[in-house]
Amino acid sequence: MKTYSTTYLNASETESMDRCPYCGGFVTLEPAVDYAPVYNRCDVCGKRFIVERVRNGITVMRIEGAPCMSDPECRITEMSQGDEE
Ligand SMILES: [Zn+2]
Repeated sequence: MKTYSTTYLNASETESMDRCPYCGGFVTLEPAVDYAPVYNRCDVCGKRFIVERVRNGITVMRIEGAPCMSDPECRITEMSQGDEE
């Protein structure tokens, strides 16, 4: 007999599940092993979003709303540019 709890905060063992920032569907997150942000793809709507490990868990965000330091591609661009102009 399974009972499904609706208490989201109880799901501490399932911290790798979260809602897609685009469609709100539940997705399994695959964060990087370090604190670097990575792209994940939503199984529900097929869009890419950013998954980033933070101090108290894992955060997800839309690519277009993410700060550059949380966007994998933007970070790479920033780092490869260096600071010469
Ligand atoms: Zn989605």
